[in-house]
Amino acid sequence: MTAGTNAGRGRAALVTGGASGIGRATVARLRDEGWQVLLADLNAENGKRAADELGATFVRTDVSDEDDVAAAVAATVEAFGRLDCVVNNAGVGGAFGALTEIEVADWDYTFAVLVRSVFLGIKHGALAMRAAGNGGSIVNTASVAAFSAGAGPQAYSAAKAAVLNLGKVAAAELGPDRIRVNTVCPGLIVTPLIGDAVEAARSVMDEAQPWPDLGRPEDVAEVIAFLAGDASRFVTGEEITVDGGLRAAGPRMH
Ligand code: NAD
Repeated sequence: MTAGTNAGRGRAALVTGGASGIGRATVARLRDEGWQVLLADLNAENGKRAADELGATFVRTDVSDEDDVAAAVAATVEAFGRLDCVVNNAGVGGAFGALTEIEVADWDYTFAVLVRSVFLGIKHGALAMRAAGNGGSIVNTASVAAFSAGAGPQAYSAAKAAVLNLGKVAAAELGPDRIRVNTVCPGLIVTPLIGDAVEAARSVMDEAQPWPDLGRPEDVAEVIAFLAGDASRFVTGEEITVDGGLRAAGPRMH
């Protein structure tokens, strides 16, 4: 997992949410390894800029829309002649709100952007990989919020738990096609997503996280790149938490 290797060897990846944060760092990491990358994001301005800076191809995509996701997959195959990896990473923080108060529209929006998107990326990515017959790798971004109640907004936590098991369902279905599906679960990572909550994140870190720094997008990108390539060829249906020990430490009694 060293920068500048040729582990990608001209293979092609589609990275959603590649305009910012973890997705952008993933595009950079894969490009360092020699992958060709299609960067898909809703934000055209940031997406184009990131793609230009990192040598990727940009396609404006709403990951909650089936036609858009199918088009992004088709654009990858058209641009590079192949699709070896899909990183379903785009996301939003979603609405905070007690279950007794949250509006159905807010709930549905959170699930559309965080869960329907991953389903669509798996569906259309796997169809293209299966048609080519060369196998592939799908990496989904969940969160430590998938494991407990309080590490994210309510709908967000429920949605990320769904992403976690969706990865296992997909791994079981697609293994015979040599398509691997794994999930990365970031903890407290400094990106625009946590925005103003960075001080809150710092106090959670002080209280509950063994490693004494907040995470960087590159910390997560490194693990995504490992799951994308052949170094992880016998790993599927798994999740890797990238959280400075937050999940492992659990509640503190000592
Ligand atoms: P970010 O805000 O920096 O980047 C998210 C990107 O997704 C943005 O470029 C945004 O434009 C894009 N996006 C949002 N809605 C979209 C849509 N409908 N279609 C296409 N693109 C869309 O956030 P980040 O922190 O890099 O988050 C990336 C992933 O990591 C998300 O799935 C997030 O839930 C997850 N995550 C982040 C943290 C953290 O602490 N930052 C922790 C756990 C999980």
